[in-house]
Amino acid sequence: MSTNTDRPILELKNIVKKFGGFTAVDDLSLDIVEGELFTIVGPSGSGKTTMIRMLAGMDKPTGGDILLRGERINDVAANHRPTCMVFQSLALFPHRTVGENVEFSLKIRGVDKPTRRKRAEELLEQLHLPLSYYDKGVNQCSGGERQRVALARALAFDPEILFFDEPLSALDFRLRKTLEKELKDIHRITGKTFVYITHSLEEAMVMSDRIGIMREGRLVQVGSPDEIYNQPKDKFVAQFMGEVNVLEVEKAGEGRVRVTNNGIELAAHGMGPDFEAGFLVVRPEVVRIGDNAADMANKLTGKLFNEYSLGSRIQYQVRMAEGATWVVERLRDERYSGQLDDDVTIGWQPEDAMLVLE
Ligand code: ATP
Repeated sequence: MSTNTDRPILELKNIVKKFGGFTAVDDLSLDIVEGELFTIVGPSGSGKTTMIRMLAGMDKPTGGDILLRGERINDVAANHRPTCMVFQSLALFPHRTVGENVEFSLKIRGVDKPTRRKRAEELLEQLHLPLSYYDKGVNQCSGGERQRVALARALAFDPEILFFDEPLSALDFRLRKTLEKELKDIHRITGKTFVYITHSLEEAMVMSDRIGIMREGRLVQVGSPDEIYNQPKDKFVAQFMGEVNVLEVEKAGEGRVRVTNNGIELAAHGMGPDFEAGFLVVRPEVVRIGDNAADMANKLTGKLFNEYSLGSRIQYQVRMAEGATWVVERLRDERYSGQLDDDVTIGWQPEDAMLVLE
């Protein structure tokens, strides 16, 4: 949810970044709304870091303009922008105390000691760090605590926009999950604009107001987590979300498609008037298996060759005669009661699958 008006605080207009003959960011345009948590997601090498470095003023675009509240800032250095970067490497002063780290930017600006301390204590509280940590050495803090100190330090000088370069990627799974939610809380409490980059769409889904999916220097889709999940623009976005079943299909009639490699006809929902060929995307969680598949409009039969526990859910892999493997996920109370190597029916309703063009 955006906390402010819908005026863009940051506008990127046709941004290009070349390294020699290689184009890392390719004619990218985007508006970032004031107060939102916007995440740029993409695979390794898609241009995320290059992008955020330009936004934070650590690098200049080869072409295009970056506007902050309508003012062109291409040539404004990082330390003259009302923005701050929080890095994965944390970049804290390891031999200083938490308090000294948090107060660093305020000290540089000549803020007096009592005011600095008051602000640092406010931030420790906001970030769920005990006040006693003020005098604790940063190198005595855990990874998660250091991450909170880094965020406190970034917030201390009250930047308008905070940029995050994969800050959580070095942490273990559970801590990352906790900090993702905390970051979202901090975002809501501060009302600041956060721009975050990650290669994990799952991480982006948890915390973002909007997500931009980057591929080869371009934004392929921008939307809310729901839009990205429910209406992926193409096969790349659909597959980026995790394990999905993707079938190459062509139109076989109104509301019907034919699977290219085996000729099987299936019912398909949401076929636009121009649809001739594309991909049918079926998420594992909409596919039923065994008796639960009996009433489904689309049914296929294959051999059950693996079953994995995912905690609350079970994942099945079903191999089709032509060699394709389907992934099915069910909650435990709908688990398949048969054996591995059984011939099983899987099925889904057409409205639970998506047709995408490429
Ligand atoms: P990762 O998730 O692995 O960090 P990324 O999406 O952040 O990847 P970038 O670091 O922005 O990707 O890199 C995008 C492309 O630009 C890559 O192919 C990279 O090799 C190239 N690149 C980045 N910086 C430079 C540079 N200084 N000189 C030459 N090529 C560069």
